Amino acid sequence: MTTISRTRSNLAHGKATPSKSALAGTGLPGSEPDRNCPLCPRLVSFREAARAREPEWFNSPVPSFGDPNGRLLIVGLAPGMQGANRTGRPFTGDYAGDLLYATLLEYGFAKGVYQARPDDGLTLVDCRIGNAVHCVPPQNKPLPAEINTCRPYLVGKIETMPNLRAILVLGRVAHDSTLKALGLRAAAAPFAHGAVHQAGALQLYDSYHCSRYNTNTRVLTPAMFRSVFANVRADLG
Ligand code: SF4
Repeated sequence: MTTISRTRSNLAHGKATPSKSALAGTGLPGSEPDRNCPLCPRLVSFREAARAREPEWFNSPVPSFGDPNGRLLIVGLAPGMQGANRTGRPFTGDYAGDLLYATLLEYGFAKGVYQARPDDGLTLVDCRIGNAVHCVPPQNKPLPAEINTCRPYLVGKIETMPNLRAILVLGRVAHDSTLKALGLRAAAAPFAHGAVHQAGALQLYDSYHCSRYNTNTRVLTPAMFRSVFANVRADLG
């Protein structure tokens, strides 16, 4: 197994949990957007074009999956067109999900058999999965304004997990948006694969995103990915 360096930064001087006022005044409800959320015009147009082209697909903001009472939250970037945007469950139906769910099963954060369908009966254990941006973006690249606009829903997810102890972020965008959701400065905890940041009572784990591109180019190997989960499992027990 590849050994990854495990750098630690301590953000204990920052806020341990996001401000309860983060959702106040936004006019946004809770942790999941409405299926016709109108807040990002470019993504709404993209979503409507997908609905016209593929009327059988989900084509809506993808809600989180898993246990709100879990101790672990995994934060991805955004739904993939052929994956979560098609099936309606995070990371379900594309390569990123093959690697993520196999690893979750290996480390006891899921049970059942992953069959790339939202009705495959797979359940998450002590774990919830969401995204920094809830609508599929063109070329998998949300704009900074879209990441900011969707962040209150990430704040909402964090706030509705009373037992949360660990957040595993997949990629730099998820890392930076999660830090902002926690009310922390990105400069205080630079993204690095394998890094662990202490934010008050929370541990923030960094991993490269488990996309096909990253694995094809060996930026992320399955062994590197498993090492991050091994650290999470060792810390949570
Ligand atoms: S990305 Fe988020 S804020 Fe923007 S339209 Fe979709 S659900 Fe709404």
